Amino acid sequence: MGLAVSCPRCGGRMRPPGLAHSQWLCDLDGVVPPLYTVSQVHAEVMAVAAAKASQWGVPLWCPWPLPPGWMVTGLAWAGDDHTGVSATAVACSGPAPLGNGPADVVLVAEEPGVGLGSRIAGIPGPDPGPYLAKLVAAQGSHAKVKAAGHPTPMWSVETPDDRSAYAGEAKGRWLFAVAFPAAAGYLLAETPVLHDLTEWLPGEMVYGAPSLRLTTPD
Ligand SMILES: [Zn+2]
Repeated sequence: MGLAVSCPRCGGRMRPPGLAHSQWLCDLDGVVPPLYTVSQVHAEVMAVAAAKASQWGVPLWCPWPLPPGWMVTGLAWAGDDHTGVSATAVACSGPAPLGNGPADVVLVAEEPGVGLGSRIAGIPGPDPGPYLAKLVAAQGSHAKVKAAGHPTPMWSVETPDDRSAYAGEAKGRWLFAVAFPAAAGYLLAETPVLHDLTEWLPGEMVYGAPSLRLTTPD
């Protein structure tokens, strides 16, 4: 399978373990788990990722069933057999509301401190905990999704104008849902059912051309 390696926090290149150091290194962020991004997602690679994530207890979230016309278009995970999987990301793409071109939604599950969800959401990272704690203390949840059958409150977080994002916690990991453009955030309100692909992989899932939201470095 085609896999690109990048830094989960900044998206930059990483230096592989070598003689001088035994761990993956980012010049900006130091030791971080390598982020593996699949060049083209399909059923076989999704099954491999689901097995890896399951082994380390990290969910692999996907809206399911997908809205009409939507496809799974991206897949990434942070960590390997040495570090353990500490984050997963699934991208889905489809028609935006009101015919405004294509839209993307990225679901991230991660352990505190990985920084992938914060980067995709465009919020200060790497751990959203302190930021979310303030939101949670100040107001009730902004969305209630059903994650693996459990009602899960999520909070809208402040993002750059080109996207909207919700964050919460499910299955003991941070859960981020980021929609591009911002108006596509309606999907979370209208299709708020998230399925953990590590539990079962729907055979009828449709895969499409790679989403630019889970990009691979050159
Ligand atoms: Zn980095």
